[in-house]
Amino acid sequence: MNLCDVVVIGAGPAGACAAAMLVDQGLSVIVLEKEQFPRFSIGESLLPQSMAFLDKAGLVEAVNQHGFQLKNGAAFLKDGQYTVFDFSDKYSEGPGTTFQVKRAEFDKLLADGAANKGAQIRYRHQLLDVCGQAGAMTLTVDDLNEQQQYQLSCRFVLDASGFGRVLPRLLDLESPSDFPVRKAVFTHVRDHAPAHFDRNKILITVHSQKQDIWFWLIPFSDGTSSLGVVGLEQHYQQAGDLDDEAMLWHFIKQTPELHQLLIDAEVVQPLRTIMGYSANVRQLFGDGYALLGNAGEFLDPVFSSGVTIALQSANLAVPLVVKQLAGQPVDWQTEFSDPLRSGIGCFKEFVGGWYDTRLQDIIFYPAPDPGIKRMVCSVLAGYAWDGKNPFVSDAKRRLNTLAQICAA
Ligand code: FAD
Repeated sequence: MNLCDVVVIGAGPAGACAAAMLVDQGLSVIVLEKEQFPRFSIGESLLPQSMAFLDKAGLVEAVNQHGFQLKNGAAFLKDGQYTVFDFSDKYSEGPGTTFQVKRAEFDKLLADGAANKGAQIRYRHQLLDVCGQAGAMTLTVDDLNEQQQYQLSCRFVLDASGFGRVLPRLLDLESPSDFPVRKAVFTHVRDHAPAHFDRNKILITVHSQKQDIWFWLIPFSDGTSSLGVVGLEQHYQQAGDLDDEAMLWHFIKQTPELHQLLIDAEVVQPLRTIMGYSANVRQLFGDGYALLGNAGEFLDPVFSSGVTIALQSANLAVPLVVKQLAGQPVDWQTEFSDPLRSGIGCFKEFVGGWYDTRLQDIIFYPAPDPGIKRMVCSVLAGYAWDGKNPFVSDAKRRLNTLAQICAA
């Protein structure tokens, strides 16, 4: 079959969830995935809001049953100050826990779930080109197994190609990100962390000397953890001519409490780096297509918002695709782009506040008002589309005011 209702490019979280929801609505779906699953991906700490989206896609039970490491909050460490956000103590309604996942397993679980519902997933099929208009799209695909190209016709295309950013590149949609170029160096370690270390939370540690350098430590259920450092390229250059592993430990050793926590850690995976990952597009939709997840906008990893945004984009787009293919009018700007970008905008304020340290002042404030902390906690738990929360509806002003109080 080379004819279907919807082609989804990429079988990551956005693509798999979109595919699952589309087949649930009776549409025929082909997912093109250039890799063979399971495959490594970065993005291992989920947010509770994502569980509600997985539930809508009928995929939450499989995730709940898999044995992933429970996540019930986020912990932050800076200059001897340790502070915790408990996701069950939040302003917005909705799940208060989630998981820390090895993405190879997580993404395969979601993709298998979509396939079991009836989506056809073609692994090692890479999208090369697309043309046409709504109702009659033609895609050129490279079958990497058979080493041959073929054409595929469909009525609508969802681009969930993540950092591949297939349609933004092909259709010249890319626009610069608001954030400077940063670089992450990361790996998995057998952490051998002491018993007091809370494995149910991501630990974000601020570098002891440079407040814009930070580390993540994301424990998994098998005694390993994802460990990474993020900083501007200039910080790496200043550190000298070190390989990636030496660079990661160089920064860790400069941050004594984290170094102490990881004193017995062993690296169990080759080091990886990614640089310049923040990206944006001029538009999130066009004639016959929409962009999901990272194929649209990606901000920054600090608040683990990537998978949640990816799932929300699928959650918003799927009902509109169904409506459009049923012949009803859809306003993609007001029904998809604006609502999606409103939540992304809230995360953007928080990310900006992290790097200019307004949010660090808030997070590490020793005597927070419990009600305000619940509102901030809601956003950290991914509830960035809950317009009832003043830190969502008026994020910039609220953060500025609170940061001034905390810094005084
Ligand atoms: P992806 O998961 O990237 O999936 C896209 C898929 O498309 C891939 O499988 C790819 O092989 C496929 N593809 C690409 N091109 C083609 C093509 N031409 N044809 C066919 N298939 C194609 N997010 C979090 O939620 N939590 C975190 O802790 C977190 N940490 C991060 C740390 C770093 C350093 C970075 C850079 C990002 C982090 N993220 C995190 C973000 C997260 O990685 C992404 O937001 C998330 O994976 C996006 O999901 P997606 O479904 O849009 O794309």
